Amino acid sequence: MKVVSSDIVISAVKPEQYPDVELPEFALAGRSNVGKSSFINKMLNRKGLARISSKPGKTQTLNFYLINEILHFVDVPGYGYAKVSKKEREAWGKMIETYLTSRDQLRAVVLIVDLRHQPTKDDVMMYEFLKHYEIPCIIIATKADKVPKSKWQKHIKVTRETLDVDSSDSLILFSSETGKGKEEAWAVIKGLM
Ligand code: GDP
Repeated sequence: MKVVSSDIVISAVKPEQYPDVELPEFALAGRSNVGKSSFINKMLNRKGLARISSKPGKTQTLNFYLINEILHFVDVPGYGYAKVSKKEREAWGKMIETYLTSRDQLRAVVLIVDLRHQPTKDDVMMYEFLKHYEIPCIIIATKADKVPKSKWQKHIKVTRETLDVDSSDSLILFSSETGKGKEEAWAVIKGLM
C-alpha cells in the first residue's frame, strides 16, 4: 500500500477518548524493545513518528495513527518491561483488555515478536489471550536481518510452534532495517479491512 498520509490523532487511556469513527483498526502489540516503533515507522515510511526506544514501557497510552484517512493503527504500550511497578502493570492490563475486548472497529492485532529468539512467556500469554477472545492476529517476526537467511525457516518454525499459531493467522518475516515483509504485511492488513 502506498501511504500518503499518517498522523497521530489521539493518545487515549479510556474508551471515551477513542476516535468516534467507524474506520478499521489494527492494534500493534509486543514486548518492549521488540521493534514495534520501528515496524510502525517502516510501514508508514515515517522516520520519527512512533518513538523508538526512548523509555521502554513508559508510553502507557493507546496511540491512534490515522493512515490515508482510511484506517487506524493503534500502538499499544509494550509489555514485559521489568522496571514497571505492579500497579502500573495492572493499569496497563486493564486498559489493553478493555480496548481489545470491546472495540468493534478492531480487525486484528499485529503481534510483533523477535525472529532471533523463541517467543517469551509474555508473548505466549498475549497470543493465548487474543485467541481466547477470537481476535484475528498477524504475527510479525521482526529483526530478520539479524538472522542468516539459511536459518529463517528454522526460527519461523520455533516461533510458530512456541506460540501454537492458529492456521487462520498469518506469520510474516519482517525487517525494519531492509523493509522485508512490508508489502506482505500491508496485503494481509488490507485483506482484513
Ligand atoms: P519498541 O520498544 O518495540 O518500539 O522497539 P524499537 O522500535 O524502539 O526497537 C528497539 C531496538 O531494536 C532499536 O535499537 C531498533 O533500532 C532495533 N530494531 C528494531 N527493528 C529492527 C530490525 O528489523 N532490524 C534490526 N537490525 N534492528 C531493529
